[in-house]
Amino acid sequence: MKLQMVDLQGQYYRVKVEIDAAIQNTIQSAAYINGPAVAEFATELATYTGSRHVIPCANGTDALQLAMMALGLKEGDEVIVPSFTYVATAEVIALLGLTPVFVDVDPTTFMISPEHVAAKITPKTRAIVPVHLFGQCADMEPIMQIAREHQVHVIEDTAQAIGATYTFSDGTTKHAGTMGTIGTTSFFPSKNLGCYGDGGAIFVQDEALALRIKMIANHGQRVKYHHDIVGVNSRLDTLQAAILRVKLKQLDAYNTQRNKSAAFYDNALQKYASISIPERSPSSTHVFHQYTLVCHDFDREELRDYLAQKGIPSMVYYPIPLHLQKAYSNYVYTKGDFPVSEMLSERVISLPIHTEQEEEELLYISDAVVEFITSKGL
Ligand SMILES: *Cc1c(COP(=O)(O)O)cnc(C)c1O
Repeated sequence: MKLQMVDLQGQYYRVKVEIDAAIQNTIQSAAYINGPAVAEFATELATYTGSRHVIPCANGTDALQLAMMALGLKEGDEVIVPSFTYVATAEVIALLGLTPVFVDVDPTTFMISPEHVAAKITPKTRAIVPVHLFGQCADMEPIMQIAREHQVHVIEDTAQAIGATYTFSDGTTKHAGTMGTIGTTSFFPSKNLGCYGDGGAIFVQDEALALRIKMIANHGQRVKYHHDIVGVNSRLDTLQAAILRVKLKQLDAYNTQRNKSAAFYDNALQKYASISIPERSPSSTHVFHQYTLVCHDFDREELRDYLAQKGIPSMVYYPIPLHLQKAYSNYVYTKGDFPVSEMLSERVISLPIHTEQEEEELLYISDAVVEFITSKGL
């Protein structure tokens, strides 16, 4: 039994015939850039998520950058982001000369805390970027309320939560990425909907904004060789779109499979007080991009070493919160500013979770975690 954090090879073999045909067709068509599969995939993803517009682009980081560029944010404008997330979110803010304003996260869901967001709003705030971390939606209802009150934009980073849905108190349910002004996602191979290289997309509901994003992603032109604004080159390859069309049909099944793995881990691990299993938000479904435990009374690295000796990989997402990263040290933050993010970065551990896990594997992994905990008398 070879254990991996994700099994992309196994996942490929299940849809090999269809994927191989899609790749072969694209190669034979020679329409490598902006071939028909790109628009077809965008339409299918729009239908799946209920988004009015879906604009494919080169990767999830570009999607964030295009979103910020399209909103016309200017140097010095403040953008609120969680301090406990992947770096891409803050990176594009800094690159565009905007000011990332970090806020702490909720200790149980690991996501941006609405109360902390409200406290960080200033006259310079232009946008809030909730990250739907590890597979469930951030608490969008209060975040949208704060955004409306202060007339700021919301850019949802849904790179880890495609397929998750959020239910508002009035009963309406929306897909991750379709609630804010703009939503962004990534098709990095290991994401819940992954292609075989880089890819990304933007969700947007407003027609004029959609046109502007398309224009920016295409060298600032609407008509070929007529460049109205300074843009970038950010496209999804036809090959990747063709692959994604096949995999989108599997997305719900993939997310169900991940939930089965999560339920197995929950059941095996929930009775141990020295670890916390992932808490479910009452308003969101979970698509388990990661299954992340918090270790309370012991050194996480000891558990990682123990698992590694048994051939079980584990990962730490994320070992250093953004406000303590060297690259962001010019933004006036110090250790102690965001205690929850700092605590999580020292205590979280993510177990293998993917679409190809058998019960035997889940049992082996959870048994090993239990053995470690009980051997320590915890
Ligand atoms: C993966 C990821 C991104 C970046 O996506 P790329 O396609 O790798 O550029 C952005 N934000 C979050 C939260 C991610 O997990």
